Amino acid sequence: MAGDRAESCSFCGKPAAQAGKLIAGPAGVGICDACVSTCGRLLDREKSRDTKPSAGGPAMQEAPAKHPLAPIKLIPPTQLRLELDAHVIGQAHAKKVLSVAVFNHYKRLNDRLTKATAAQAGDLADVELDKSNVLLIGPTGTGKTLLARSLARMLDVPFAIADATTLTEAGYVGDDVETVILRLLQSADMDVERAQRGIVFIDEIDKIGRKSDSASITRDVSGEGVQQALLKLLEGTVCNVPPAGGRKHPEQQCIRVDTADILFICGGAFAGLDRIIARRGGAKSLGFVPPQNDKPSLSAEQIVAGLQPEDLFSFGMIPEFVGRLPVISVLEPLDREALIRILTEPRNAATKQYRKLFALSGMTLEFSRESLEAAADKALALGTGARGLRSVLEGVLLDTMYALPEAAPGSKFTVTAEAIRGEQPVTVSAASPKKKAS
Ligand code: ADP
Repeated sequence: MAGDRAESCSFCGKPAAQAGKLIAGPAGVGICDACVSTCGRLLDREKSRDTKPSAGGPAMQEAPAKHPLAPIKLIPPTQLRLELDAHVIGQAHAKKVLSVAVFNHYKRLNDRLTKATAAQAGDLADVELDKSNVLLIGPTGTGKTLLARSLARMLDVPFAIADATTLTEAGYVGDDVETVILRLLQSADMDVERAQRGIVFIDEIDKIGRKSDSASITRDVSGEGVQQALLKLLEGTVCNVPPAGGRKHPEQQCIRVDTADILFICGGAFAGLDRIIARRGGAKSLGFVPPQNDKPSLSAEQIVAGLQPEDLFSFGMIPEFVGRLPVISVLEPLDREALIRILTEPRNAATKQYRKLFALSGMTLEFSRESLEAAADKALALGTGARGLRSVLEGVLLDTMYALPEAAPGSKFTVTAEAIRGEQPVTVSAASPKKKAS
C-alpha cells in the first residue's frame, strides 16, 4: 500500500526475506504470517475466556496463562489487624485503614476474577468497584514500609518497594516508572499472573511534587512528569515492562503486565502538613515555632480528619494523582515508649534477633531495662524513627560479636545503659557450671 515497503516484521523483527509472508501496512509497517497467527490465537483465547467483557474496564492482557488463578483467600480486617499487631507497634489508625483497604481490594479482585459474587451483589452486580490505592503519611522510620510488607506477607502476594525519587519521565536519565512493575515481577519470579495481584510500595512520594511556579523553561521530568506517568499505573493500565530493566527501546520484547489489580501503597513524610492543617483550623498557639521544637501539633486522627486535597497540592502533588489515592492514613511519630516496645515486642524485634544470634553460638545475651531506654533515647536523637534502633544496637554489640567465637562456651553477655552510651563495654559473665556447652 505505502510507498516505502516494510523490510521486516514490525512485531517480531523477522526480516522480509525470512518471513513466509509479510503483510504491509502504511509507512513501512509490516506484520509476518507467524505473528498474524499468534494474534489470531490470542484473540480466540480471549473470546472464550471473556464472553462478556466488562464495560469500560481496562483492556485484558494476553500474558501467558499457564495456570488458572485461584481467588485470593480473603482475610477479614479484624484478623489482618491482629496479625499486623504482631509486627508493628502502635499506628492504630493506619492498621485499621490498611486492613479495610486491603480486604476491599482483594474482594474487588476476586469479584473481577470469578464474577462469582454477582449473585450475592444482586442488583449491584453491574457496579464496578474502584481501586483503593493507599497514601500513608508519616515521618521516616515509623513503619510505613513495614506495614505494607507485612500485609503482602500475610496475603502471600508478591511485594516490591520503589523509591519515587529515582524515577523520571520516560526518555530522561533515571528509571522509567515501569521499573516499579519490573521489581514486582522479579519478586513474583517473573510470573505475570501472580505479579498482577501484588502490592507495590512507592516511598518518598512527597518528593516528586511539581516544581512549583518556578518559571522554568525545562520540563519537570522528575516531578510532575513522574506523577503523570504513575497515574496510569495506579488506576490500571497494560504496561510494557522491559525484562532486563533499563530503558525501553523499540526492538525490545516487553512483558505486558496489567496493573488494574495491583495495590499501590504510597508513602511520604509530607513534613509540615500538620501545621498547614492546624493553621487552617485556627490553632493560635502555633505562632513562630523554631525548627528544633518541631513537635507535631496534631494527632494522626486529627490530621486525617482535617486533611483536604488542597493540603497535598501545596506539596506539589497534582490533583489527578491525589485522586488516585482515595484511602489516606497518617502515622504517628514514635515516642520513647514506642521505641522501647519496638525493641522487644514484635515477633522479629531487634533484641530477639540478637539474642538468637548469640544463642546460635551457645551464648546468652540480655538487655537491661535501662539499656532499652538508653537505646531509645539515642535513636530519638538520630531522628530516623525506629530505623535508628538497629544501628544503635549494631554499634554497641560489634566488638562483642567480633570476639564471640572465642568467648568461653555458655558465657552470658549483658547490655547495660552504660554500654549503650559507650561508657563501658558489654558485661560478660562466665557460664554457670551447670550449663552444658553444646
Ligand atoms: P518508613 O516509615 O520510613 O517506611 P520502615 O517501615 O521502613 O519506615 O521502618 C524501618 C524499620 O524500623 C522497620 O524495618 C522496623 O524494624 C522498624 N519500625 C518502624 N516502625 C515500626 C513500628 N511501628 N513497629 C515496629 N517496628 C517498626
